[in-house]
Amino acid sequence: MLLSVEDLNAHYGKSHVLQGVDFTIGEGEIVTLLGRNGAGKTTTLRSIAGLIEPTSGRVSLEGKDLAGLPAHEINRMGVALVPEHRGIFSQLTVHENLTIAARPGPTAWTVPKVYELFPRLGERRRNGGGKLSGGEQQMLSIGRALLTHPKLLLLDEPTEGLAPVIVQLLVQTFKEISNSGISILLVEQNLKVCAELASRHHILVIGQSVFSGTYEELTQGDLIERHLGVA
Ligand code: ATP
Repeated sequence: MLLSVEDLNAHYGKSHVLQGVDFTIGEGEIVTLLGRNGAGKTTTLRSIAGLIEPTSGRVSLEGKDLAGLPAHEINRMGVALVPEHRGIFSQLTVHENLTIAARPGPTAWTVPKVYELFPRLGERRRNGGGKLSGGEQQMLSIGRALLTHPKLLLLDEPTEGLAPVIVQLLVQTFKEISNSGISILLVEQNLKVCAELASRHHILVIGQSVFSGTYEELTQGDLIERHLGVA
């Protein structure tokens, strides 16, 4: 197992947002985290990445405890978050956004390698981060995360609001990233994308894990209707 999350609990003030989240991710595996708005998906990603300190439970990466460590240390250990609002510097160029994220590390990810993965970013390297399309911003944010040499990428709704052709391009890229040995935890509303990419799916309802299984298991019965609110 690469990542193991056990009985994870987190609060925002008095509000008990995560109330026992449990799942695992294998090496090179893509797992989705599904649930209605407010179910706690983003909070789960932020807790794994160390942006929120869990109130109890265990998060371990290759058997090493992450819960309670500062975010930069968790990143150094191999977890990179691509946040929903993309977290890029709009005043800096594409190239600057990448070079400030880059650091030496155990994998072969370099700025030129990111341009190979996303040729579009290479073409836009002198453009300001704030002038990019939504899809380009997503690519830049993923590129920045890869330059920190992750073993696990946490992707928060990466395809939200993007045109189908860009969604398809990102899906292909996630496959390449996963084939290179990086695991992915994907928060995603688009079930087609989930089906195409992930080997296992995980549902949260009001901060609790209620289902973990294959796409076939997910689509049996009324799980989707009941817990995700879509037909
Ligand atoms: P969405 O798809 O809407 O992002 P989500 O499943 O990612 O949903 P979270 O963002 O993790 O859900 O939110 C879980 C709960 O925590 C929600 O009830 C939300 O209102 C609350 N919450 C989120 N962020 C904060 C915050 N900074 N302070 C207080 N409450 C918060």
